[in-house]
Amino acid sequence: MADTGGAGQGGELFYRRVLLKISGEALAGEQKFGISPPVVDRLVEEIRVVHEMGVALGLVVGGGNIVRGTTASAAGMDRVSADYMGMLATVINALALQNSLERRGIHSRVLTAIRMEQLAEPYIRRRAISHLEKGRVVLFAGGTGNPYFSTDTAAVLRGIEMNADVIVKATKVDGIYSADPKKDSSAEFIPDITYMQALSRELGVMDAAALSLCKDNDIPIVVLNLDDEGAVARLVRGERIGTLVHS
Ligand code: UDP
Repeated sequence: MADTGGAGQGGELFYRRVLLKISGEALAGEQKFGISPPVVDRLVEEIRVVHEMGVALGLVVGGGNIVRGTTASAAGMDRVSADYMGMLATVINALALQNSLERRGIHSRVLTAIRMEQLAEPYIRRRAISHLEKGRVVLFAGGTGNPYFSTDTAAVLRGIEMNADVIVKATKVDGIYSADPKKDSSAEFIPDITYMQALSRELGVMDAAALSLCKDNDIPIVVLNLDDEGAVARLVRGERIGTLVHS
């Protein structure tokens, strides 16, 4: 397990360095589009608790609440331009999260995969690790910096680069189900699953590129419900929560 680098008592932690992936939609709340400040604040409250426990925390946020490349290109836009717009959307979301973090006195840095130095630092791996070691929350924005990828892939990539112990994918459901529980009442909860099963059963956990990267680097993924208060904190203390994807 990686060195903590967190600010508090890392002693009893099961996961010391965590990469948390938050979808853009999680910032929109009921309105489904854009950013809802109270929703962001509630989310940041969850992050604050985990950070105070001494967990070194990296965040990757999506951009689906503003622009999603595939949707925009289906509507006629050039895919690459649409993807760059999506990547910029993640920067907007990261700034919203940072603002809320800083209002709570939590030190953070936004690191972007696409340079925009007037508002954030460029992503440099060693710098990201150094921020984590100083107890700062690191927000990785701009996805991977490349079109045709997703922020799930960015989350896995950054998680591996920062030697995270786990990738936590925060969703609107309690974990992985055999079918969409919102559409199919017979959907069964799956407490744990291998990378291969998740890939072959196409359960919509993450895209194949992200899952393959996890598999090749043997980094576990936990899918959990961010609306379940304290879920991430319980997970890092060692409670079995959500669905574990493993080798
Ligand atoms: N995107 C991209 N490359 C990346 C990450 C994201 O091109 O490395 C674009 C892509 O168009 C994507 C959008 O940014 O649709 C927003 O990210 P994503 O859909 O992953 O956000 P989420 O669904 O998590 O809100």
